[in-house]
Amino acid sequence: MERKTADEVREILKVLDREYPEADCTLENKEPFRLLVSAILAAQCTDERVNLVGKTLFVAYPDPKAFAQAPLAELEEAVRPCGFYHVKARSIQASAMRILSSFGGEVPRTMDELLSLPGVGRKIANLVLGDCFGTPGVVVDTHAMRLSRRIGLSDADTPERIERDLLRIVPPERQTDFGHLLVAHGRKFCIARRPRCPACPLRPLCDYGRSAAAAGPAASGAEGRRP
Ligand code: SF4
Repeated sequence: MERKTADEVREILKVLDREYPEADCTLENKEPFRLLVSAILAAQCTDERVNLVGKTLFVAYPDPKAFAQAPLAELEEAVRPCGFYHVKARSIQASAMRILSSFGGEVPRTMDELLSLPGVGRKIANLVLGDCFGTPGVVVDTHAMRLSRRIGLSDADTPERIERDLLRIVPPERQTDFGHLLVAHGRKFCIARRPRCPACPLRPLCDYGRSAAAAGPAASGAEGRRP
């Protein structure tokens, strides 16, 4: 299967820009440390719930120092609604401590430094780099993985390889947006178990959408060739 070219990605971007002119990160807190904490909390949780929890969490703990000094049990209780609260609270507190001890209390601005923070992988690092610091990068979450494979942007199986493929074809100045656009499209049309191919504006540009599978059972619910 031929992967999409940079020119084809530009066409895809035109469609997505038209469809989602307001696409943005759905986590509300854009201050770097708060976005980092929100992104850790968002694993296996909805952004809506994280935003709701954030409304009280960041009042009780406004900065890295407050998170670092909080009794762990208290922090766990505060993030409990987001699930996996033991591990999330530990990651957030350990990250806050490292930010204080190694980075002068400021969220670092490089990929390698961000990856040194507990609980932070490339997805979170790219989110913070792109949305807070304007550094190009593509956030490869579950939506980006699914859509990249269906559309034909990548045939890789891991987030790292999909990110590498996307970086080759998405213009640097659009890489941060591109992740947000894929999330918006994944929620509206390219739903995991039930892609709405017949109604999808990307269909003429999408490998899966143009395939026989999209017109058959997969379009109404069954898994297709590119899950
Ligand atoms: S045509 Fe179908 S598979 Fe392709 S992006 Fe649209 S909904 Fe997803």
